[in-house]
Amino acid sequence: MAKEKILVVEDEEDIQELIRYNLEKEAYRNLKIVDSGEKAITALKLFSPDIILLDLMLPGMDGLEFCRHLKSSQEHSKIPIIMLTAKSEETDIIIGLEMGADDYVAKPFSNKVLIARIKSVFRRSKQTFSDDDSGIIKRGDLVMNRGKREVRLNGKSIVMTFSEFEILYMLAKRPGWVFTRNQIVNEVKGDDYPVTERAIDVQIVGLRKKLKGAEDLIETVRGAGYRFKND
Ligand code: CA
Repeated sequence: MAKEKILVVEDEEDIQELIRYNLEKEAYRNLKIVDSGEKAITALKLFSPDIILLDLMLPGMDGLEFCRHLKSSQEHSKIPIIMLTAKSEETDIIIGLEMGADDYVAKPFSNKVLIARIKSVFRRSKQTFSDDDSGIIKRGDLVMNRGKREVRLNGKSIVMTFSEFEILYMLAKRPGWVFTRNQIVNEVKGDDYPVTERAIDVQIVGLRKKLKGAEDLIETVRGAGYRFKND
């Protein structure tokens, strides 16, 4: 049995049951399900979850308000959040990600996708980012050295512009983490390139060309942004 504690904040009973059924099938039995943001706040203290599945449309305090509350709390800000969203909530998804939510799953979601996202978040929270200090990142066949501004794929050196390097480094530092275009703009601004969100898309196209054969390292997250493949 998985020992991780999962807090589910969802007001619709059908979805609560669906999530419970699917998580228990995957041996996640350490569950607490609440139907409001207010109750979720109480559960933070009493249950101390390892991850939160958060519906955005809740009566009373909505999901984004809860997210803001959590991320501003010293004690609980590190608890990862996966938002459960409707397709029409694209703006909210982006706001949530920028507030620090880890990921989102759009309703109606497949169980496979939900479980994969949960596992990915757990895997990530166990990863040590010890390579951050050295400025060297190794992800499979890709090696980046920030000090030397050097990128190697399968041992072959790739020449990148300053922006391309910064974008790839930002994504590769946290595999699986979704970055919005706005977050990427903020990371690379003040560069040789007039940075707009559209410009980020252009840079990503350029990056994928340079990563020939390994283009899929950069994944497009529809309606949200980009992430570095996590496996
Ligand atoms: Ca709801």
